[in-house]
Amino acid sequence: MVTPAFLAALRASLGDTPVLVGADERAAYAHDALGVGPLPDVVVRPAHTADVAAVARLCHEHGVPLIVRGAGTGYTGGAVATRGGVVLAMDRLNRIIEIDDVNLLAVVEPNVITADLQRAVEARGLFYPPDPASLEQSSLGGNVAECAGGPRAFKYGVTRRYVLGLEAVLPTGEIVRTGSKAVKNVVGYDLTQLLVGSEGTLAIVTRITLRLIPRPATSITLLATFATIDAAVDAVTALIRHRLVPAAIELVDGESLRAVARHVGQALVPEGCDAALLLEVDGSAAAAAEDAVSAAAACAEAGALSVDRAATEEERQRLWTVRRQLSPALKGPGIAKVNHDVVVPRGRIPQLFAELERLRQRHGLRIAAFGHAGDGNIHVNLLVDERDEAAVARAHVAERELFERVVALEGSISGEHGIGFAKAPYLGIELSPDEIALMQRVKQAFDPKGILNPGKIFPEPTPPARS
Ligand SMILES: Cc1cc2nc3c(=O)[nH]c(=O)nc-3n(C[C@H](O)[C@H](O)[C@H](O)COP(=O)(O)OP(=O)(O)OC[C@H]3O[C@@H](n4cnc5c(N)ncnc54)[C@H](O)[C@@H]3O)c2cc1C
Repeated sequence: MVTPAFLAALRASLGDTPVLVGADERAAYAHDALGVGPLPDVVVRPAHTADVAAVARLCHEHGVPLIVRGAGTGYTGGAVATRGGVVLAMDRLNRIIEIDDVNLLAVVEPNVITADLQRAVEARGLFYPPDPASLEQSSLGGNVAECAGGPRAFKYGVTRRYVLGLEAVLPTGEIVRTGSKAVKNVVGYDLTQLLVGSEGTLAIVTRITLRLIPRPATSITLLATFATIDAAVDAVTALIRHRLVPAAIELVDGESLRAVARHVGQALVPEGCDAALLLEVDGSAAAAAEDAVSAAAACAEAGALSVDRAATEEERQRLWTVRRQLSPALKGPGIAKVNHDVVVPRGRIPQLFAELERLRQRHGLRIAAFGHAGDGNIHVNLLVDERDEAAVARAHVAERELFERVVALEGSISGEHGIGFAKAPYLGIELSPDEIALMQRVKQAFDPKGILNPGKIFPEPTPPARS
């Protein structure tokens, strides 16, 4: 609990570092993209690893919950202080420390914005591929904590593939350095990769060493439209049979296409279209051009209604509108969007869409689905009128059925958004009691008093203590 003695000790150890206790100041740190949560008791904005370590030590000593916050774009409530305590806002740790174009790596503080690093390295002919749709807002520390993915993951992999090393503060206050600047390292357990995707529950990341690759010379964007979702999925299979590895294969269903058309006020796809694929191929100019021709042929084979190829950057941006406008288009006054990021083996996407149709019929719900077809990672949005309690209740039943079905299809309940507190009650659908217990023993080793991001990932016997 935050006591006057704890606050006094915090201020004494932090010098000029901002310690915010006013309700208005704290309100800005009470939400993420999932929604608004409880107010933290205190917000600290450190600018140095030593300050982070001092806060962790004091929280450990006083048994105060400590929650790390990046840019607050998480979809599962991970950065929200469900049990009060201290929110460590990392926004002042935002420097690109080094871009090394001989060793192809960058060293950054955690709150560098993803797109800012991408622009900085691209200006030097280098490439940092992970591209969550939130890249203009999300932080690299948040990306590491959630192991963020994005459209390019099919070809280039998710954040994990690019993390070579970390500096991190343990919840007990020690500073550790994991991995190295070398691309090979098999010394001891791989703590770097254990921390990637740990959702701010094991340690506070204060510095990240990231692998870079050379920037592809060209990328070409195509938009193919189809009369049915099955035809679009057939095109994905055809692409893979042609041994093509596009940088992006984004699948958008009819419900989502109609929502975007309403949102932007114009039809973006031909009449009779109930699914679309947005494809991006990249590489040398010759290789990208050849792949674009093969990709268009694969879509035509699957019965595409149209295949448009962007000839200019402006056209490329227009084609991407379909994908980029999805998130705002699906929100609306009074609409509660229950957003999931389930994954199935790619060949089972048709079964996943058949399941969505069954859920629509059985529960009378609007469901919009789109996502990274190359990875089988589909964002399923259950759209309900938030004033309609019965519909909200039906959506919750449907989400459990969705998760059970996805696991039966040998997939996963989350491909990139993580568990946070929103999906913690469903952990047991995918993991066995023994697996959960093993993870809890790992958590215990890092955080013996359980102060770091409590109530996240693991199902709780009781609801969060504060509301
Ligand atoms: C419109 C929109 C589109 C999105 N698209 C994608 C997408 O395509 N792919 C995808 O993967 N995600 C996507 N997301 C989800 C979100 O952007 C990612 O999960 C992102 O990685 C979160 O980064 P953040 O900086 O906002 O983290 P926050 O929301 O601040 O925190 C997320 C978690 O990370 C922990 N954390 C943050 N910083 C640190 C640190 N320095 N050390 C330890 N733990 C830390 C927090 O405690 C919390 O548990 C999207 C979100 C939105 C709103």
